[in-house]
Amino acid sequence: MEIKDRYAPSPTGLQHVGGVRTALFNYLFARSTGGKFILRLEDTDRTRSDDAYVQNLYDTFAWLGFGWDEGPDCGGPSAPYIQSHRFNLYAEYTRQLVQSGCAYYCFCSSERIEKIRQEREAARSSESGYDRHCREIPADEAAHRAAAGEACTIRLKIPLGETDAGVPESTKFNDLLLGSIEWKNKDINPDPVLLKSDGFPTYHLANVVDDHLMGITHVMRAQEWLPSTPLHVIMYEAFGWAPPVFCHLPMVMGQDGKKLSKRHGATSIDEFRRQGYLPQALINYIALLGASYEEGKDMYTLAELAERFSVEKLNTAPAVFDYKKLEWYNGQYIRMKGDEELAALSIDAAMSADLFGATGREPDAAQRALYTAAMPLVKERAVFLSDIPAKLGYLFAEPPLPQREEFVPKKADVAAAIALLDKARAITAALANAPNDEEAEILLKAFAKQEGLKLGDLMMPLRVAITGARVSPPLFGSLRLLGADVSLARIDRARKYLTAQ
Ligand code: GLU
Ligand code: ZN
Repeated sequence: MEIKDRYAPSPTGLQHVGGVRTALFNYLFARSTGGKFILRLEDTDRTRSDDAYVQNLYDTFAWLGFGWDEGPDCGGPSAPYIQSHRFNLYAEYTRQLVQSGCAYYCFCSSERIEKIRQEREAARSSESGYDRHCREIPADEAAHRAAAGEACTIRLKIPLGETDAGVPESTKFNDLLLGSIEWKNKDINPDPVLLKSDGFPTYHLANVVDDHLMGITHVMRAQEWLPSTPLHVIMYEAFGWAPPVFCHLPMVMGQDGKKLSKRHGATSIDEFRRQGYLPQALINYIALLGASYEEGKDMYTLAELAERFSVEKLNTAPAVFDYKKLEWYNGQYIRMKGDEELAALSIDAAMSADLFGATGREPDAAQRALYTAAMPLVKERAVFLSDIPAKLGYLFAEPPLPQREEFVPKKADVAAAIALLDKARAITAALANAPNDEEAEILLKAFAKQEGLKLGDLMMPLRVAITGARVSPPLFGSLRLLGADVSLARIDRARKYLTAQ
């Protein structure tokens, strides 16, 4: 049997970590079994659904670099994949349930429903949901009233009988991850609405009908949907359909053990993207939220994940979202990038940081080449893409010079710093022209020894003169990129600055 699973988001918000985790696990499960992965838009809530969120969904997955085999954008044998394009279907299937006595018309006004809610609240009643007021209306009478145009919804009739042993009826299913689950029917949402008075379906109806019609074999979704599952199982029985296999994924929590939310930090993929995360880092990290692969191996490509994915690798315990760990992944993926690619990925951030002149200016050919050549200087330490241009301003313009004290090594004064700078000047052209760091280091060490100076003392005023800061990207690489002339000019500028009083 070919496995078919799906991601079924409601376009009522930005794509976030939880949704992408669900999509990713379904994608990996389909890939690992040679099955198909479907995207279905569950836009039954017409007031909350928004095309902007649909666009955000497409943009997010295009950026992440994985997607579905069938869906609204690419079509497939079960099209349409947008629930609002399938509305006629749902009414038809509901009628079927009414005819078989598994669903019934409810003529209660929303005022009546609200009144019950308020009365219960006042009485501090633990009961909630519909009071099954219309359940006993004789079927033909109800059909008449509905046919005459009386406003009504259609509700699912949750079976409330007893077993032979006198035990209240219950609904069982086997969750692939959580094992056997049983709910007493009296504890299930009392007769939820399937079809609203305007003829629109609710989530439960459209979800079950579509999973069946689209041939979904496995429903892998967030654990918050677990309470809906008994209801769905009852609907499958009512339709006479075999239910799919259910697999409810572990919750994603913040460090405080509460459900991950904006209070903990970024949750929308857009936000991570703006912060300078790489899609590969996000995918790698999200794939480990509630799953464990090989001991001692942290880094996985999408293909490696697809090879390894299996339900046995899923955890039942909640996953904790660790922002620091995600940062670590991002740094790792930044280091794996080639210079060209890393430059291309961070060039927008560089433009926004005004690296190439006036606000947002594009680099010219020379600036672009310099920027690319500078990648090795920053790659090792960067955590975010935006860290990269932030450290490189001094290569494109003379840096502002800091307070004089910044030039002065420990136990020395400004005069000593000037003397050190003069010494360093003598070797600067040779350092700038050295072919690599190793050669430059040999030169400078020999020079320091010959002059009887500490290497650190010699380098510090030079570093501040060249980069404008005590803490900067590597000095030798910077000298090479700037060249001898510019480097010498910067030393002269710093010297003037230090001597002017
Ligand atoms: N539309 C539901 C959601 O937004 C789908 C839940 C499910 O996968 O059944 O998450
Ligand atoms: Zn009613």
